[in-house]
Amino acid sequence: MTAVVLVTGGAAGIGRAIADAVVAGGARAILWDVDAQRLETARNELGEKVRVERVDVSDAAAVQQAMGRIGDDWAPTHLVNNAGIIGRRMSLVDIDPAEVDRVLGINVRSAFVVTRAFLRARANHPDAAIVNLSSIAAGNGGAAGNAIYAASKGALQSLTFAMARELAPAIRVNALAPGIIDTDIQKDVFADRAEMDARAATIPLHRLGEAADVAEAAAWLLFRAAYTTGEVVTVSGGRK
Ligand code: NAD
Repeated sequence: MTAVVLVTGGAAGIGRAIADAVVAGGARAILWDVDAQRLETARNELGEKVRVERVDVSDAAAVQQAMGRIGDDWAPTHLVNNAGIIGRRMSLVDIDPAEVDRVLGINVRSAFVVTRAFLRARANHPDAAIVNLSSIAAGNGGAAGNAIYAASKGALQSLTFAMARELAPAIRVNALAPGIIDTDIQKDVFADRAEMDARAATIPLHRLGEAADVAEAAAWLLFRAAYTTGEVVTVSGGRK
């Protein structure tokens, strides 16, 4: 049966690359994002194999309503909890509780509410799977001033382990931990291209990652990793 993969944050960066890989592999994709313009671009470029909708995944009611609008023939069989932000950089002594709530709302709470909606609406598939986008920041604490982001990705890894236990054997659940991938999100980390190039030289494979590098691993976890669940797969060019 043809898979239908729901990808949050699917309009840009890693999410869009996952959508490209899903469609190239013959499956269909539903893309949810807050960026209406890039959603439209994705629809134009990927054609009838995708459906797009503007959904803020931190809004539980909006998620439930959007899932309710998906008809039976597009009921998702696979899920990628990919939408995420870095948030404002700040030291622990200046931490803003409102920013903690905002980043955890988009990076962690969304995974709970989107997964809940997916579980209630999904179509059965013989090898159903969920992939959560964590980060190597979960293991190394992240860049200076990004404690909220690092903690959010640690939470997502623990959630992955819990989901894998609870949803087995029906659904495999794994996480991806990318290193430094060359997408718009890095504009919140690096001042300019020169700083990114300098960092690339410190990575064992001597380059930043591409969104397609992560999408390749996502496609493997979604469609081919039939005996893998509850794992975190690192895609970082050797960076820890
Ligand atoms: P990106 O900024 O290029 O894309 C993120 C997408 O998520 C955007 O299209 C954005 O509009 C969307 N989004 C943001 N908030 C949303 C919301 N509330 N509801 C719906 N959509 C929303 O970033 P990316 O690099 O593609 O990151 C994708 C995921 O991978 C994120 O979870 C990120 O933390 C993770 N990640 C990225 C890197 C990296 O280096 N790029 C490294 C580790 C982990």
